[in-house]
Amino acid sequence: MYYDANSTVFKDGRWIKGADAMTGDFNQTLHYGNGVFEGMRAYENENGCNIFKAKDHFDRLLYSASRIHLRIPYTSEELVQIAYQLLDHNNMHNAYIRPLIYSGENMYLAPADDCHIFMGAWKWAKYLGSKPLNVMVSSWERPNPKSTIIDAKITGHYTNSILATTEARKLGYDEALLLDMNGHVAEGPGANFFFEKDDILYTPPAGHILPGITRRTVMELAHELGIRVVEKFFTIDEVYQADHAFFCGTAVEIAPIASVNGEKLPGEWENSAGYNIYLMYRQKVQYNEYQGLTIV
Ligand code: PMP
Repeated sequence: MYYDANSTVFKDGRWIKGADAMTGDFNQTLHYGNGVFEGMRAYENENGCNIFKAKDHFDRLLYSASRIHLRIPYTSEELVQIAYQLLDHNNMHNAYIRPLIYSGENMYLAPADDCHIFMGAWKWAKYLGSKPLNVMVSSWERPNPKSTIIDAKITGHYTNSILATTEARKLGYDEALLLDMNGHVAEGPGANFFFEKDDILYTPPAGHILPGITRRTVMELAHELGIRVVEKFFTIDEVYQADHAFFCGTAVEIAPIASVNGEKLPGEWENSAGYNIYLMYRQKVQYNEYQGLTIV
């Protein structure tokens, strides 16, 4: 699914076959989870394609890496160029791009001297599909920001995401919604969360979440549409009173939520602020600009 015999990936300055992209069993990141990664999407347009907010994603990648003492000899601008070259090598326009920075061999609990970068791309449909989601409040909390760097996209954090997703799926839900250590709503396993009440959007502030690039895009689009967005801490009880809710993230894009713990959200998605933002988002990701679409 992620590569075939013709796929090319970028590895430490070289272009190699996806099947040859190997790392050893003594790799520190494999043992301890101290790698960092990104996920970004390329969207086809008349001029080829646009990797949406590629520079922002690579800035966050390098920020994440620096926070856990991993260094690679590339700037964000160089990585953006490499990402476009990666798409050319693979003849792709619509794609999900995955850069990963990881350590070499070292079993000590100190940063390894050598550090590697991998970048691959594959076709990936909307991560959670298009159907409104039935969501459960997870029994797992998001990691405590005093025990890790919560705004860095660290590989080890995703153990928490996998636990939450596994629990939700096992209990028959589509996705999990995680609270933070204080009992406030935080985010999904791989996406940020918004709810809408009386035409105002609410989302948790930075602090216990990965403040996503899509989340910021939603806020920009809401501003363009004159929709008020309030960042505040809130409990799940407020979500039960909401008209609408959605997840947003690079992989999921903007994904409507039908119910939370079996409590159905009453509003029609097509009549929500989130849906209007989604229509604008479709254009913005393709062209970087919203080009004026008829809003229904
Ligand atoms: N929260 C978590 C935990 C995530 O993994 C992601 C995906 N990167 C997001 C939020 C959304 O971030 P973005 O919009 O930058 O993809």
